[in-house]
Amino acid sequence: MPKRLVFLIVIFSLLFLGITSKAFYEQIIMGPTYAIKSLEIRTKQFPAEEYIRGDILDRNGISLTDAAFRPTIILFPKLITNVDKLLEKIRAEIPQLNINAKEIKPQYRNGKKIYPEPFIIRVGEDNDILIKISSWNEPGLVVLPYKTRYGNNSLAVHLIGYMGYKNHSYEPQGMMGIEAKFEEILKGDRPEKIITPITDARNNILEGLGYRILDLGRDEQRSDVILSIDSRIQKIVEQVMDEKGIIKGGVVVLDIDSGQILAGASRPIYDQNDLDNTMGFDDNQVERIIDYKVYPGSIFKILTAVAALEEGIVTPETKFYCTGSSPDFRVKCPRAHGELTFSEAMEQSCNVTFVQVGLSLGREKLEKYIIEKFGIHPIKNKSLDSPEARAHGIIGQVIFEVSPLEMANIIATVARDGYHQELLDPWKTRLVKAVKTGDKIENYAEIPKYSQLYSKNTAQQLKAILTATNQRGSGKKAWIEGYGSAGKTGTPQVNGLGEYMAWYTGYAPLDKPKYAIAVLIEKIDGLNESDLQGGTHAGPVFKEIIERIIKLEER
Ligand SMILES: [Zn+2]
Repeated sequence: MPKRLVFLIVIFSLLFLGITSKAFYEQIIMGPTYAIKSLEIRTKQFPAEEYIRGDILDRNGISLTDAAFRPTIILFPKLITNVDKLLEKIRAEIPQLNINAKEIKPQYRNGKKIYPEPFIIRVGEDNDILIKISSWNEPGLVVLPYKTRYGNNSLAVHLIGYMGYKNHSYEPQGMMGIEAKFEEILKGDRPEKIITPITDARNNILEGLGYRILDLGRDEQRSDVILSIDSRIQKIVEQVMDEKGIIKGGVVVLDIDSGQILAGASRPIYDQNDLDNTMGFDDNQVERIIDYKVYPGSIFKILTAVAALEEGIVTPETKFYCTGSSPDFRVKCPRAHGELTFSEAMEQSCNVTFVQVGLSLGREKLEKYIIEKFGIHPIKNKSLDSPEARAHGIIGQVIFEVSPLEMANIIATVARDGYHQELLDPWKTRLVKAVKTGDKIENYAEIPKYSQLYSKNTAQQLKAILTATNQRGSGKKAWIEGYGSAGKTGTPQVNGLGEYMAWYTGYAPLDKPKYAIAVLIEKIDGLNESDLQGGTHAGPVFKEIIERIIKLEER
């Protein structure tokens, strides 16, 4: 083979390796002796960031994971002056650090000392430990600025997801939520900053120079993902959920104009920095906003009301009589409501009236609205084929299950006078706003188109009914003084054991609706599940969230 060709092949392979390998920066920056020195270099250098990866930001550019450079303990095994002495000191003064001799002592291979690579030691934000370690002046154990991905103020944990290792891979990757779904966009190629000790030729740290952080410039490969979430509203939602003692459930806030998610929180929660000890307890890994579905209960009456008003089966003033039960289908009301109008039947959530209305609509018309127009499909192997199935479906039991996002999307349609947006792929169309690469921001998904599901007349009648529900009916605890609100409560049975869930879905303010919210509570700390009740427990969560958002806007 001609020499020139061999040369070209070698150059080409080197370039190719360089471009695809994560060691690219080291090869270029550290020079051609990298291959020999790589281990040597790795024992002395350390990426100044936990993950080689773009950030996940809120709509205003604020990190949702609370990613930041924080003073962090970094241990460089190769640079420790006396391992046994240091371990003794740590055991005596900071026993909670729990460092193993094996992690820092060199191994001997072919008579050569091989040192472990540097690593970080997490102590949260315990400043006392950081100060103590700094004061030791131990060259191999230092406190330096280091970018950790998840901080104490990490928000929307279940929507963001977490990092982990798949199939025994050595490369960490996104395991759930946006971290997983946007892995290819977030994933970078090399650190943007590295920490390196300043040493002489013999590998001793130069007195007084210590460490420095090398800025390697932007990693072209990685992008930030900008979500539609507003971290201020997200914080409000999480605070209210915790203050109200919601230990299982989900809350979502939609922007009515765009249909985008402004906030979404699930409980229970896990710690993204401590999965080993916090993941998998009480289903805390479950995201309860987008993909999680349960019986809607009476909030589902909104759909039957749309169908009945639009089809001319009822007007808000049509009179009904409730005896307290529909004997054929074991559907009951808490009491006999007596004579009431259709509007009052919604206000008091009268099951008997709604079953009667739904049965006069019939299977075809119910399916036209629930399935075709609103896109809510029956659970597998269920349908509205019998009158009994229709009776249960109408009051949100047995036949249909919905996610909080689906309910918030429906109440947003009500607030928009019947202009509906399909959910499509909500992780992409409702949660991600843009992708940012360097200074370039590109819109990610287009806002789904609106289609008008029902007439303006029906829209206005329905809004008046749902407003009355909050003014004087079952949604009283969701009424917002000075601004008003409209919506519906729900208390579906979880099972045949007398356990309930509490739902509320509504929008506010009445004049120019801005926020559509769905609240699902499956468990409140200290409360028996048989006592959960939509109007009593979920309604006030909606009210509190809206009131705090309004205060935020007025600031
Ligand atoms: Zn009734």
